[in-house]
Amino acid sequence: MATFVQPLCTSLTSRCIVRLLQFSIAFAIACWLCALATGAQPSNQSRHVVVVVWDGMRPDFVTEQNTPTLWKLAREGVTFRNHHSVYPSATMVNGTALVTGIYPGKNGIIANHAYRPAIDPRHAVDVELPPVVKKGDEVSEGKYISVPTIAELVQRAGGRSVIATAKTVGLLLDRQAGVGAGKDCVTLFADNSLPARIVGLISEKNGAFPSAHLQRDSWTTKALTEVLWKDGVPAVSILWLGEPDLTQHESAPGAPGALAAIKSADENLAAVLSALNQRDARGTTDVFVVSDHGFSTIARSIDLRKILNDAGFAAKTEFENEPKPGDIMLAGNGGSVLFYVTGHDATVTRRLVEFLQQSDFAGVIFTKESMEGTFDLMQATIQNDHAPDVVMAFRWNDSKNQFGIPGMIDADWQRAAGKGTHATLSRFDMHNTLIAAGPDFRQGEVDDLPTGNVDLAPTILRILGITPPQRLDGRIVSESMTNASPAKPNVETKTIEATRDSPVGRWRQSLKVSRVGSTTYLDEGNGEFQKR
Ligand SMILES: [Zn+2]
Repeated sequence: MATFVQPLCTSLTSRCIVRLLQFSIAFAIACWLCALATGAQPSNQSRHVVVVVWDGMRPDFVTEQNTPTLWKLAREGVTFRNHHSVYPSATMVNGTALVTGIYPGKNGIIANHAYRPAIDPRHAVDVELPPVVKKGDEVSEGKYISVPTIAELVQRAGGRSVIATAKTVGLLLDRQAGVGAGKDCVTLFADNSLPARIVGLISEKNGAFPSAHLQRDSWTTKALTEVLWKDGVPAVSILWLGEPDLTQHESAPGAPGALAAIKSADENLAAVLSALNQRDARGTTDVFVVSDHGFSTIARSIDLRKILNDAGFAAKTEFENEPKPGDIMLAGNGGSVLFYVTGHDATVTRRLVEFLQQSDFAGVIFTKESMEGTFDLMQATIQNDHAPDVVMAFRWNDSKNQFGIPGMIDADWQRAAGKGTHATLSRFDMHNTLIAAGPDFRQGEVDDLPTGNVDLAPTILRILGITPPQRLDGRIVSESMTNASPAKPNVETKTIEATRDSPVGRWRQSLKVSRVGSTTYLDEGNGEFQKR
């Protein structure tokens, strides 16, 4: 606005009238831009959106037997058969992409576990924890997540949002609940809430937040349907179930316990649909059932810190003292590892990449600075000022686990072989579940166009009649909606490759990318070293 603060004329000469007119026009444009920037648009008041996230739900487990409620919902709506996580295929990254419609690099959350020296100079942090989010906002003038989430945009448009997550992810979905435009809104995240008193009110009615995974999910579901919806279904609700993710981590995809966890998620979905029916709200509510990412089974647990230190690197998972140039902070994210080289030492970074390129566990390597045989961080949409020097997704294959479920990966040191995890570029991690049903979706259809978690925010905002303040990376999945334009969008799929030859052999990595309009989706990527 500073450009418009100029001394105005004291007497109305014709030159002054022109200047006043110019000022008025500039002022009107400024007001219009301000309105756009705050997203102050009328919302579609009659419409509700409910997003139910089944953490870690693979699409191949959606069957009539495993998930009778979801199976039936899919028959009433649309099954998105080519849906994608953003990379890394991890919970916090995908939660943030889901609610912003913006790729991880641009929205700011590029990993579950990241090294942000301005927040903690000694350790990598869990990005969703309240002290981390608070510090992250303090050091960035409120831009820890750089763009507003759909909850915030609904609030600014005069609507109400309610978020209830059985895991801690909730704070990333709406950290403004309880204040300002969000004063009537709630974020419930595990045993914590915004406003803080809400979790106490729920505990008084339904008992304290339980310790067992399945009970946590049903407690959170009840909190939403019985307490937070007491005065009506708000414009947008997000229910985040911790299952089947937690049980799949402790066992593996397809284990009897994991199938029971999927059944439990299906029962919680049934409770949500029944609560909507009781309120006579099904006809005005679009329900999205989505997972944040897929899942794999660990073939080998790779102790990268030991392997790198044995090879002469100074690799740490915490800095006890001030780090020396070239010291590497490792942030393990299960199926991917982030490497932060102190001082961005180019020699150490190059040696690290060349070491990984000769390993038997590296899948795809991304680097901040262009290097032979790697892709740029930008190609994984994880480039930003805080990004690590090197990111590596572990190698994967489509062989089967002990329960006959395909998708094996190498993973970091945090879990043993035979257990489940994710966050690689495996197609089993990157392809996840999306089913949508309600008044804005076609009935009994299948969408084979590429879609992704990044598409949920633009689609939900369109349904609610809210114009986002900036262009979103995701797209509106209009091909599956009732008010769709008949023109089919342009789809392009290509595989890019990077190689590096050395005296000992050849490294080769590839990345399959789909594109619809200007939105890109990472399908899968892998790599291999061939000795001479
Ligand atoms: Zn997850």
